[in-house]
Amino acid sequence: MAWLRVSRTYYPVTALGPGRRLGVWTQGCPLACRGCMSRHTWDPGDGERVPVTRLLSLWRRALAAGATGLTVSGGEPLTQPDALVELLSGARDAGDGAADILLYTGYEPAEFDEAMRAAADQADALITGRYDVGRPTRLLWRGSANQRLIVNTGLGRARFGPYETAEVDRAPVQVVLGEQDDLLFIGVPPPGALGRMERALAEQSVHLRDVSWRP
Ligand code: SF4
Repeated sequence: MAWLRVSRTYYPVTALGPGRRLGVWTQGCPLACRGCMSRHTWDPGDGERVPVTRLLSLWRRALAAGATGLTVSGGEPLTQPDALVELLSGARDAGDGAADILLYTGYEPAEFDEAMRAAADQADALITGRYDVGRPTRLLWRGSANQRLIVNTGLGRARFGPYETAEVDRAPVQVVLGEQDDLLFIGVPPPGALGRMERALAEQSVHLRDVSWRP
């Protein structure tokens, strides 16, 4: 049985891809992008080791609740390529062909080895490339201007093609209560937005502790 080290799951995600989605954030990222908002996902020993079968049960429940897609982000999902193949191929088999799979990776396709390529090929669409804090963007679902939305399949083309160059004035962000009564920010806020929000809250005497975007 395959296991995936996971930081968190959440349904419904509406800020990382179209429609209502199951979000799976994997644990462990060696890329250490400056300005990363998810530093808590870097340590490959943190998070929880979860059987892929349990993640697929979550996916089936999400589909029954009306999910239109699965978004896998991180962390860096491609550090666990074999388990990721099982998750993504199983998710495809469990769906009715209408639910899409979006995979975020900080790697560029030219950096993929064979195992990473096999995992990436299971996704209908990819968002690739390091987060570069010095290259802000208004491109939907991307954190910096170098990141590319790549469609892999006909479903990916239908679902994500219209958004390849779509720009937004305000990036979609969800704020939800996590299972440990922590606040979870879902989405790709523009550079500096989280710091500005933190300062604005502090002016209202609301002080955030242990934020994931600071060392
Ligand atoms: S932005 Fe993504 S790829 Fe870069 S360090 Fe953070 S989790 Fe890793």
